[in-house]
Amino acid sequence: MLVSEHDYQRTLEYSFSALGMLKRAKIPPYPHFYELCYTYASGINEQLNERLNMLLGNDSVLSMETVLLVYREFFDNPSDLESQLTSVGQEMSSKIDAVNRAMDEAIDTAEIYSGSLDHASERLSGEMDADSLKRLANKLQAETTQMRDSNKNLEEKLKVSQQDISSLKRDLDTARRETMLDPLTKIANRKSFDQRLKQEMETFEKEGKPFTLLMMDIDHFKAFNDNYGHQTGDQVLRLVAMTLKSNIKGRDHASRYGGEEFAAILPDTDVRGARMIAEKIRKAVHAKELLKRSTNEKLGRITISIGAAQSHKDENLHELIERADACLYTAKRNGRNRVICETDEEFRDSKVA
Ligand code: GH3
Ligand code: MG
Ligand code: MG
Repeated sequence: MLVSEHDYQRTLEYSFSALGMLKRAKIPPYPHFYELCYTYASGINEQLNERLNMLLGNDSVLSMETVLLVYREFFDNPSDLESQLTSVGQEMSSKIDAVNRAMDEAIDTAEIYSGSLDHASERLSGEMDADSLKRLANKLQAETTQMRDSNKNLEEKLKVSQQDISSLKRDLDTARRETMLDPLTKIANRKSFDQRLKQEMETFEKEGKPFTLLMMDIDHFKAFNDNYGHQTGDQVLRLVAMTLKSNIKGRDHASRYGGEEFAAILPDTDVRGARMIAEKIRKAVHAKELLKRSTNEKLGRITISIGAAQSHKDENLHELIERADACLYTAKRNGRNRVICETDEEFRDSKVA
């Protein structure tokens, strides 16, 4: 597996953060406790973070009890989405079985009916008295009625199954769409970002039209969390996601890349065009004055730093991400709340330095 330098650094940070949480609480770093804290530090499971934050309240140190409780809730059971997908799959296959059974029954009835018609036709070609003719006609009439009922029955079953299958298909589509969404911010998640970046790379290789990748990171977010708590921090993440989403359009793709990092893929856009969009996003985030919902307390403003890199020929997607990331870190080093593009002197200087 190819891991970019940035991903490597990020996972190391999550890992330090997870170990730090356990160490502060004097909880031994057994694999399952570590898994829980690592998942928390990465922020990928919104429900888990929400639950843990709720249990933590104003304490910043975990208790063994809290850890056990949350671990049982989130890791001992398969995820909701997983069980949702499994149950839709099971229902779908039982509906298909029911349709198959109804078809088999209908085929059996049709075969019996066809046999009766052959038999009647054979008998009618010979000599028959009036009574036998009448009996044959009555038998045929009864069988025709049975055949008609059976067809009607099948028709109804098929209609119901068709509706069931359509509604199951909708459930499946919704569940599938959710696997591509970040539950906290409701914008695309990392999985969706990875897919889209791969597609954009392929299109670029075929058609040669450059696209630009923006990597964004909230400035001093740790301090913000420390000052106002994780729940307020989560609200800020939602606000940044919404602001990002509303400042891009068309085929642009906005996603939550990880914890407090976001990304935007801007197809058909070179780095000059991307700078304008990035500035628009940066200013829109800065323009929002934050209010704590519960108390109306003013929390000031938050800012983001953005790195922008354009797709280059003969370069893989990890190299592109690393370049956008390197720009982002130059923006951080140069004072934050700014956009740095790969063409900027500051970025070139930072590479020489
Ligand atoms: P910098 O300007 O250098 O980016 O500083 P920073 O404090 O933002 O950077 P750092 O990487 O040290 O901290 C990122 C923090 O983001 C750590 C964690 O408290 C917070 N964070 C990550 N994911 C979540 C989340 O899902 N919810 C909340 N509330 N905070 C998160
Ligand atoms: Mg960060
Ligand atoms: Mg940050």
